[in-house]
Amino acid sequence: MQITNSGIKTTAGPSEWFTGIVYIDPVAVPSGASRLSASSVHFTPGARTAWHTHPNGQTIFVTEGLGFAQRRGGAIEVIRPGDRVFFEPGEEHWHGAAPTRFMTHLAMLDVDDKGNNATWGDHVSDAEYAAAPAIGDA
Ligand code: MN
Repeated sequence: MQITNSGIKTTAGPSEWFTGIVYIDPVAVPSGASRLSASSVHFTPGARTAWHTHPNGQTIFVTEGLGFAQRRGGAIEVIRPGDRVFFEPGEEHWHGAAPTRFMTHLAMLDVDDKGNNATWGDHVSDAEYAAAPAIGDA
């Protein structure tokens, strides 16, 4: 058994991968035979990931706030606490907070043989983000 408490460091999401301010807490890190990577990701209002894919897919579970998720070619969907979203392996997508709300989700995936968790693409532009539904109507 290994308890980690004060040893967990919250870090800011790098600007290459995110628009806006995002903080990430590492929940589980791959070790030995386990490929499980889990993070608690805190998006400030308007913050979102860039477009990206995951080699073995990804599950996110919303724990707080209100946010959006979109796969390439699909509509922007509203996600709320208690919602689970699975992104297929290689499916291009993004996820983030609504413009006037925080959003926190747990993000869980299996890294690939080389330890990679994602392949990153373009940022989600303001124009793409503006296509989200008005959250008052969601
Ligand atoms: Mn993702």
